[in-house]
Amino acid sequence: MKLDRALDLMREVPDFPRPGVVFRDLTPVFADPDALRAVVDGLQGGIDPDTQVVAAIESRGFLLGAALGYGWGYGVVPLRKPGKLPAVAHRVSYALEYGEATLELPAEAVLPGQRVVVVDDVLATGGTAAAACELVEAAGGVVTGVSVVLEIPGLGGRERLGGRRVDALLAV
Ligand code: IMP
Repeated sequence: MKLDRALDLMREVPDFPRPGVVFRDLTPVFADPDALRAVVDGLQGGIDPDTQVVAAIESRGFLLGAALGYGWGYGVVPLRKPGKLPAVAHRVSYALEYGEATLELPAEAVLPGQRVVVVDDVLATGGTAAAACELVEAAGGVVTGVSVVLEIPGLGGRERLGGRRVDALLAV
């Protein structure tokens, strides 16, 4: 399946999770085997060839990260919400529009010098991806880029990631 047809399956859900917000829902893309393959292969096309590990952001990033790891030969490291990991190497808290969020990197997952791509479904304000990059770097990893299916450019995510390489299959 062509990538643009795959991305056509994305659904816009108004007023979720709050009134006035349009949530971009990739569930129908993941649920279609051909669309899932097109999206995963599309992401692979934007990943630096020296990359060794995918750092996947909970929870939709896990789906993409596992598929990339299996299909293209990366190790996969889950970046988790707090309280899920038995052994935590690093923890980063960051501001959301309302409140705060935290991500944790498992112990002995990213090794110093490893080349790591951060993967998620959507890049919005960039707070989550920036925290993910900080976690990888705190462990001594080298971030080769941030790869997402969808970027919402109006929210400044790319700017928040400084000069890091950002690859998005679609920007809306
Ligand atoms: P950010 O930290 O503002 O860039 O938000 C990105 C994080 O929130 C990612 O983990 C996304 O999964 C999630 N997210 C934000 N907006 C959307 C959306 O419209 N659809 C799906 N996920 C979203």
